[in-house]
This record gives sequence, C-alpha cells and structure tokens, in this order.
Amino acid sequence: MTALDKLLASFPPSVVRTDRESLFAASFDNIKLSFPPEAVVFPRDEDDVAALLKLANEYGVPVTVRGAGTSTVGGATPVCGGWVLSLAHWQKLEIDPVSGTASVQPGVITEEISKAAAAFGLFYPPDPASKKYCTIGGNIATNAGGLRAAKYGVTRDYVLALEGVLPTGEKVRWGANVKKFVSGYNFKDLWVGSEGTLGVVTKAVLKLQPLPEARHSFLCAFDSDSRALAAATKILGSHLQPSVLEFMDSLSVACAQKFKGTQFFENCEAPAVLLIEADGTRADVAAQAEQLRKWATEETQIFKETDDPETAETFWELRRACSPAMFMLAPAKLNEDIVVPAKNLLKLLDLMRQVNKDTGLYTPVFGHVGDGNLHVHVMFDRDQKSQRQKAGNAVHKIMKGVVALEGCITGEHGIGLAKTPFLALQHSPAEIAAMRAVKNALDPKNILGRGKIFDVFDVWEKEPVSVKLPWEHR
Ligand SMILES: Cc1cc2nc3c(=O)[nH]c(=O)nc-3n(C[C@H](O)[C@H](O)[C@H](O)COP(=O)(O)OP(=O)(O)OC[C@H]3O[C@@H](n4cnc5c(N)ncnc54)[C@H](O)[C@@H]3O)c2cc1C
Repeated sequence: MTALDKLLASFPPSVVRTDRESLFAASFDNIKLSFPPEAVVFPRDEDDVAALLKLANEYGVPVTVRGAGTSTVGGATPVCGGWVLSLAHWQKLEIDPVSGTASVQPGVITEEISKAAAAFGLFYPPDPASKKYCTIGGNIATNAGGLRAAKYGVTRDYVLALEGVLPTGEKVRWGANVKKFVSGYNFKDLWVGSEGTLGVVTKAVLKLQPLPEARHSFLCAFDSDSRALAAATKILGSHLQPSVLEFMDSLSVACAQKFKGTQFFENCEAPAVLLIEADGTRADVAAQAEQLRKWATEETQIFKETDDPETAETFWELRRACSPAMFMLAPAKLNEDIVVPAKNLLKLLDLMRQVNKDTGLYTPVFGHVGDGNLHVHVMFDRDQKSQRQKAGNAVHKIMKGVVALEGCITGEHGIGLAKTPFLALQHSPAEIAAMRAVKNALDPKNILGRGKIFDVFDVWEKEPVSVKLPWEHR
C-alpha cells in the first residue's frame, strides 16, 4: 500500500482532497512558486492531526502546515510535495473578559480577535498589515509583527499557552491560561516563530489589552529622507513611546500620491513623511501630543495633526497606498523585512541609495521605523533576465549590509524558502547546528516543513504562477 492509499483509507473524503483544484490552491502562497502536493488534508480535530502526523512518520512523507497562505517567503509552499495540512477552517474564538484573554483556534483571522474583544473594551495589539487575511496560526508560526510593534511588541508577547501536536504525532500543551508559567523548558516560545517546523498549533490562549481611551495622530513632511529618519531617531531617543511611528521615503510618497491622485501636503510636492500615533488614556495622550507638537515644530517642514478618527484615516491612506503604488515603478517587487538598530537607520538609507546607483533599479523604503523594521524594496521586471539578475544580486548585497549594520535579515516574515540563502550570513555554524539539533530531536524524520529554513533554495530558478491573490489590489 502506498502512503497516499493509506491516507485515503484512513480518513473520509471530506478530510482528504486530491482533486486538481485543491492541489493547485495549496501548491503556492504569496511568493507564487507552485509545488503541487499529493493531497490536502482538512482535519476535523486534534485526533486527525495526530493521526496524520503518525502516518506521515510511518511513510516519511513531508507535511506542510497551511493557514491563509499570505507568507511572503514561501513558508506555506509545499516545496517537497507530500501532504498539506490546512487549518484555515478552524475558526473558533472565545473571549474571557475576566482574565483578559482570547482562546483561539489557528484558523481565526487575526483581525477578528480585536473585533470580538472590542465588545469587552479589549483589543489584541499585534496587527500585521495582512490582518484581514492571515490566520493567528500563521502569525504564531512566524511571530508576526505589525504597525504597533514598537510600543506593544509582537505576537510572542501575547501568547500565554499553545496546544498542538509534535511532528511525531503526540499531543502537547505549552503554558496555561495564566500570566506566569516557568515550569520546565519554555517550548511555547520556541514554537512561536518556528515556521511550522517544530509542531502544529491547534489552539492558543492570547493575552488582550484594554482598548486605549484616546488617540492622536500626526502626519509630518520633511524635505529629505535623511531628515525624516534623523527626526524619527530623536523620538526614539526621547521618553515618548508612540504606538505608531512609520517612515515613508520621498519616492514612496511620490508614488502613493500619484496612485491616490491626491497631494497630502500643500506646497510640498514629494516630501519624505512620518506617520505618528500616540494612544493611551486621555491625559496620557494629551501630554504625548504636546511633546510631539513641540518636536514637530522644530523638526518638520510642515505637519498636520488630529484626534478625529476620520481625519486620522485620511493620514493612513498615504501609508496604505505605498505598497500597491510601488508597482508604478516596475511590474515586480522584492520586499525585504529587514531590521537595523536605530543608530544605523541612516546607514541603511545609504546602503539602499548605493544599491539603486549600482543596479539602476528603484529601491523605495518605507515601514516601521519605530522598531527599526523597514521594508526595503527592489523594483524590477521579471521578464527581463538582466533585471532579474540585478535584483537577485541587490538582495544579497542588502542582506550582507544589514548584517554588517548589526541588524536582522527578517523582522516579520521568517526564513521560509526565500531567505534560506541568507541564513548563514546571520548565524554562525554553531548557531545553525544548535537549531538543527533541536529540529532533529523533535522531528527525526524531517516531516514538518521539509525544505524550509535550512536547505538553500533559489527563488529565481522557477517561474511564478500567474494568479491574483485577494490581498493584491493594484
Ligand atoms: C500584503 C501583506 C502584508 C503583510 N504584512 C505583514 C506584517 O505587517 N507583519 C508580518 O509579520 N507579516 C506580514 N505579512 C506576512 C504574512 O501575512 C504573515 O507571515 C502571516 O503571519 C502568515 O499567516 P498565514 O495564515 O497566511 O500563514 P501561512 O502563509 O499559511 O503560513 C505561514 C507559516 O506558518 C506556518 N503555519 C501556519 N499555520 C500553522 C499552524 N497552525 N501551526 C504551525 N505552523 C503553522 C506555515 O507552515 C508557514 O511556515 C504580510 C503579507 C502580505 C501578503
């Protein structure tokens, strides 16, 4: 009996699908490189997950866990074929207002957690830009960050407990619905960010926060990218802790304005921009706003401010337009979620300017300057071989530069497939050996997420599929 025969014999047809459409849909994620699996499994409960993994171990079949497939590094791509374990349909969500926690199944869409919590005056702070589409299971697996991470932290900071299944098929629970837990090794935090390679998350308990009473927003224009970044570092060096501190370079702003057909500042054609938001109690926000106003008066060319949510929404339009507007520069983009320490932000800007000069490709930069996690882009035409090569070389140069600036090659998306060529730039052989030792101990047959993180993968060797994903609106 083949592994597939055994799989089909072990589960009802509603659980295992092998039709072409299902296989194609599960064959790629946001990087759009298609590797069709042999089957897609939609488990009914933890027992199904455990049975599937035991079977996969028996036959040595790779299993790729899948949430919504928004991974920008190929984390959900079943690069070695095998079986895809899809959990997007597991969407139970319960708020416990007394302990201020949410109990979630992995398929819950991230945005739904804050929506449900709002009824109790609570919210879930991590807010990846993909929050309308991505699942909390994917967020936990990648330790997702977001726009408010500088003040509120990332997914790991909110995970109190995880339930799930080891790669070998045993059910486990790490942590509990309590705020303190130091019993044994901290596998909970090891699972967070392990990109679906050390276990399958089937349930999580998340810490919630009281909804802020007030917000105050600023949109600030600067006559150069470096002035905007230098001004941002002054905020970082102060005792202010805005919930949002977003940078947009002048090229991104020029594209976003063209895309929206709006000029966001009068008499200021294409400024570099900082979007800032303070939140908290009314008194706290008023005090922060006063300090930010003083800073803005000294540092900016011109600025606007508001505590009206509708007007603030118009500020956000500029930031939201940046990503889709990039495609005015070229048909394809590489979006690298690098992080550098605040002291090296200006050096990162120099690095991107140098890459632009060397390659002739546009290199717009925007992102979360509040925690040094900027999205640096390389725009290119995939159909032109020379541009593809230049873009590939540019990314190598950027990653080397980021490590030299004491930064990190990924602050949000993880290694997946796309960042595997750079793992050894970030980590020493001893560090990689330690990671591999953990992986081997928990997953001796390399079942979960085979091909991810450690095996170098060349994203340029395969043509992407031509499909438009729900989160792409150009
Ligand atoms: C437009 C856009 C904006 C984005 N913005 C951000 C951002 O601001 N911040 C950010 O951090 N990321 C961002 N991302 C990346 C992506 O949305 C995140 O990585 C997200 O956490 C992935 O969730 P998902 O449900 O789509 O997971 P998938 O893409 O399906 O999977 C991602 C990884 O998680 C693993 N996985 C999924 N579910 C489980 C589970 N239950 N148990 C174990 N492993 C699992 C998969 O195997 C894979 O390795 C963005 C992506 C897009 C397309």
